[in-house]
Formats: sequence, structure tokens, C-alpha cells
Amino acid sequence: MTQFATAGGQLLVGGETLSTLAERVGQTPFFAYDRGLLRQRVAELRDALPSGIRLHYAMKANPMPAVVGLMAQLVDGIDVASAGELKVALDAGADPREISFAGPGKREAELRQAVASRVLLNVESMREVRLLKDIGTQLGIAPRVAVRVNPDFELKGSGMKMGGGPKQFGVDVEVVPAMLDAIDAFGLEFEGFHLFAGSQNLRAEAICEAQLKSYELALRLAAHKPEAVRSLNLGGGFGIPYFPGEQRLDLAPIADNLLSLRERAARDLPAASIVLELGRYLVGEAGVYVTRILDRKESRGKVFLVTDGGLNHHLSASGNFGQVIRKNYPVAIGNRQGDAALEEATVVGPLCTPLDLLADRMALPVAQAGDLVVVFQSGAYGASASPQAFLGHPGCTEVLV
Ligand SMILES: *Cc1c(COP(=O)(O)O)cnc(C)c1O
Repeated sequence: MTQFATAGGQLLVGGETLSTLAERVGQTPFFAYDRGLLRQRVAELRDALPSGIRLHYAMKANPMPAVVGLMAQLVDGIDVASAGELKVALDAGADPREISFAGPGKREAELRQAVASRVLLNVESMREVRLLKDIGTQLGIAPRVAVRVNPDFELKGSGMKMGGGPKQFGVDVEVVPAMLDAIDAFGLEFEGFHLFAGSQNLRAEAICEAQLKSYELALRLAAHKPEAVRSLNLGGGFGIPYFPGEQRLDLAPIADNLLSLRERAARDLPAASIVLELGRYLVGEAGVYVTRILDRKESRGKVFLVTDGGLNHHLSASGNFGQVIRKNYPVAIGNRQGDAALEEATVVGPLCTPLDLLADRMALPVAQAGDLVVVFQSGAYGASASPQAFLGHPGCTEVLV
């Protein structure tokens, strides 16, 4: 991985050597997110995309309040998926007009909080629409809604499919016209459509195809009143490379496609802004997980480096969060960068389960107890997506540097 510089054999995170950063943090394991890299990612993306495309941060990728606070300043809106995330976004200073709330199974209390916060609700069922009617009346606030559509296509080549076929997400296309009528009849404030086909896609042409199909679907659904569509959220799904052989996502074709969609939208849906909501792509590469080697063991010729953290803090890196075949995340010894002598070593966490594996038979510098193992590409779906209580080890901490 090249996004973090090195100096004197040490990885630099936020301009500090890893060993000193570990002292500053006061404990291992920890996640560290680099502010400069977060800023750079958003700036590069805005540079690559046509103007007028609105960028949202889907904060479930990394809900650390300090990260959300920074992202709220950099992007045009925050996407939340629970009232808990909504609180973090509002506390972070995000503008409620630019917050949207998606997710199946919103509790009634969450809907009330969202209406009272005046955020946009991506409704996912008739139940939500009915509840919102009553909540709107009780609070004297017209709920702002967009319809999350379960399209009749899938995002090809995506790690996790979240649209197409039968899904718990969104409303089947076939049902949307009736829902739009209900939204009108109930006095809800209709603002547009939300389509999210899937996640972790590295194939630009598949993303373009999904965006185009999403656009055309929204156009068909809006046929009777295209001027009502203010927000057209085409999802995201931009992936980052984790494994050997994976190529970075090529933004150029996506930019061309969005430019053509933006031009079409100016004619077809004159009030609409095109929104992209990205989680992993914005934050994933800016973060590292750092864990200290407690023990170096050799068993029948195989070297094991046993660390003070593992799948309890970083389930994704262990391969147990959405991977079908386990592959190694990029791992390094952060205080032995550039060491010439390599050996094959297996990095495991302290948990009593063979699933607690951070690197399986990787070529690494010869490491000892006290050294710092770094897992790259750890800014998304790390701490908050891991079973911290599993086996009762200390939790990890997070810093934004
Ligand atoms: C999870 C999610 C995202 C973010 O997905 P990434 O793959 O992290 O970009 C965006 N929108 C919705 C609706 C989601 O559920």
C-alpha cells in the first residue's frame, strides 16, 4: 500500500511515526484514520466527477463521531441508517436538510425522531408511509420522503447485492406507483427516489450500467410529475482494492456517464440533483488497524505472530464479514518497513478460535513480540462492524490524526 509514507523504517500515519502514535494513543489495538487522506479522497473524487453531482457520505462505513464531523464538512450530505447514526450526524453539525435516512425496519420512534429532525426519509414500505402520515399530523411537520426502489436489475460484480429480485430493501418497482399515490394522499412531502444496487464494486462499466438503469427507472416512475423529483439518489457501490490482483476503480467512465445523466436530468427532471452515496470508497483507504505482537510461536515449522487484537475488532480483515473465500487484507509490520529479510508468517489474534486470522502465510519482515502489525484498507467496516465483546478482551480505540 502506498497511501501512507514511511520514514526510518516506520509507517507514518497523520505525519507521525507509528511507534510514537501508539504511545500517544496509549494502547494497542487501535484504528487510526488519516485526515489528510480523507480530504484528499473527497477532493480527488470531486475533481474526477462532473460538477453538480452531490456527494453523500454513508456513515455506517465509519461512524466515529470525529470522522463524521470531518466528512460533514467535506461532502454535501450524510446518509444514516438508524436513529443512533442520525444523532451522531446531527451532533457533528450536518445540515438536517442534507441528511437522508434509509434502512429496512425503521422503528416508530426512529421515524418520529427523523421527522422532528426534518431529515429526508428513504421509505422502504407501506407501513412506514402509514406511520409517517400519523407522525406528521401529530408533530405538525410534513415528513420529507423519497422512495427507495428495489429495482428489477442487480449490480453486476458487486460484493453485496442490495437490489434486484426479492429483497428486504426498498419497495419493489411494481408497487411504487401505488405508494406515490399514498404519499400524495397522506400529505407527505415527496422529494424523489433512492436506488442502491450493491456494494464493493470495482467494475466501472457495471456501476455505469446500474446508474443508467436506475436513472431510466426513476424517469419512468416519475412520468406523471417529473418536476416533483428534487433528489435522485443513484446509490454508489464504489469499491476499493483489498486483495492481490484487484485494480483501483476507474473513475473516468463513471464521470462520463454521470455527465450524460446530469445533462439528461436537466431536461427530464428539471428540479433534480443527482446524489451519490458512498461509504467505503470515501474512508476505507484512509484507515489502518494497529495491533501489537504479544508472542512469536513456531509450530511444526510454521511461524505464528500472536497479536493483542483480531476479529473482535476487525471482523472484515479476518474474512468473516461478507467474504466467500478468505483472502489476506494487506498487512505489514509497521515498525519494520523496508526490512530486506522476509519470512513466511501467519498473524493471528488472541481469540480461542481458528477464525481469528489476520494474515495467512504472508511474506513479512522477521517480527518479534512488541512489533506493530498494521492492517491497511481498514477505514471502513472495522471497529463498528466487529463483535468487540466476543471473548471478553479489551476493546479497541479509534483516533483521527
Ligand atoms: C451500506 C450502504 C451504503 C454504503 O455502501 P458502501 O459500499 O460502503 O459505499 C450506501 N447506501 C446504503 C443505502 C447503504 O445501505
